[in-house]
Amino acid sequence: MSLALAQVIDETSLTDTVHHLVQADLSPIVDAIDSGALYPADFMRKLGSLGAFGSHVDLHGVDLNPAIDAMSEVSLVCGSTGFMTWCQDALVWYIANSDNAALKNKLLARVADGAVLGGTGLSNPMKSFFGIEKLKLKGKRVEGGYIVNGALPWVSNLGPDHVFGTIFETPDGEKVMFIGDCADPAIELLPCDPFLAMDGTGTFGLQFRNAFIPDEMVLAHAAMPFVKKIRAGFVLLQAGMGIGIIRDCIDIMQRTKTSLGHVNKYLTAQQPEDFSSALTELENEVQLLASTPFETSDAYWRRVVEARLQIGDLTMATAHAAMLHTGARGYMKSHRAQRRMREAYFVGIVTPATKQLRKMLAEMPA
Ligand SMILES: Cc1cc2nc3c(=O)[nH]c(=O)nc-3n(C[C@H](O)[C@H](O)[C@H](O)COP(=O)(O)OP(=O)(O)OC[C@H]3O[C@@H](n4cnc5c(N)ncnc54)[C@H](O)[C@@H]3O)c2cc1C
Repeated sequence: MSLALAQVIDETSLTDTVHHLVQADLSPIVDAIDSGALYPADFMRKLGSLGAFGSHVDLHGVDLNPAIDAMSEVSLVCGSTGFMTWCQDALVWYIANSDNAALKNKLLARVADGAVLGGTGLSNPMKSFFGIEKLKLKGKRVEGGYIVNGALPWVSNLGPDHVFGTIFETPDGEKVMFIGDCADPAIELLPCDPFLAMDGTGTFGLQFRNAFIPDEMVLAHAAMPFVKKIRAGFVLLQAGMGIGIIRDCIDIMQRTKTSLGHVNKYLTAQQPEDFSSALTELENEVQLLASTPFETSDAYWRRVVEARLQIGDLTMATAHAAMLHTGARGYMKSHRAQRRMREAYFVGIVTPATKQLRKMLAEMPA
């Protein structure tokens, strides 16, 4: 499907289309992805060809809800692939927001329709902007671009022909945001040790050794105002990961009712109905916030950060309750409750992590 066609798909039909693709193509390979045996490049490309990453290419009146809904459908079945969907969505978001016409011509349509896959290395910059750690990439100006050195410990949805957005700092303290190309021999992909989950997400360490970043690949020579523009979208898009996992955990709890309802009813305030109503409230807030991602007020940004914190908390709480409801059945490796719990913790630790969000809120003006 062409990008133009994808853009005219309305939100409901995009969600339905993604739902059907997920049931047919993703469900059978979830365990292989979870175990790290498979990185689902074909699925991601198909998802892109259906328009799942294309709804926020045109920034005129942009609304992030279609992207969040599509991501929720993916995460309903697989948290790892839901996370990769966010990686790709964030990449599209960066390029769509750039003023660099050459970069947009080269990559935007191909990233939005999944022909080119990739991710985002903004964890370290996002943590550095809030005083948690120092920027790890350093760059200096040369004719026609920059030379970049340094290392990022984890960047996901990568492979030999993938691209990613991140930020380096120049000696005079200027921050520059750019797209790196994994095919560049000066950017090495380093395998990571196994994780608790997310091993099928194409996650690598990145080592830059005098990598030349041409001006054509620069998203913003002044990264700070650019980050301010994209930050709400970056954070809100992550809602799709949590919403999908929460819905599935509620479903897992519902399914135990027939055989275990007589005892599970003592899990007070941890019933599927409790989580359903908390989810509805949170979804309403996310829906509202995601329809105006360029709003600039401090009050809006606070609500975005609060919503993101609640998504992480509710995802982990629902997955925890699903474990208690399923008991020994959910404790078995063959049951998805334990996978959902491992995935849920990722929503709480991926940048902005729970602790960073709490720090941000603590330091915000009242
Ligand atoms: C599976 C997975 C995928 C990820 N994908 C991405 C991605 O696509 N893009 C992205 O930008 N970030 C990615 N991250 C990083 C993630 O977003 C967080 O930044 C990371 O989990 C650390 O957050 P934290 O709050 O624990 O950091 P902090 O508590 O602030 O501390 C983490 C610090 O510890 C150091 N550290 C500790 N243990 C190790 C180790 N074993 N190896 C290297 N460094 C270590 C790190 O340098 C880092 O500074 C990924 C992390 C994981 C686990």
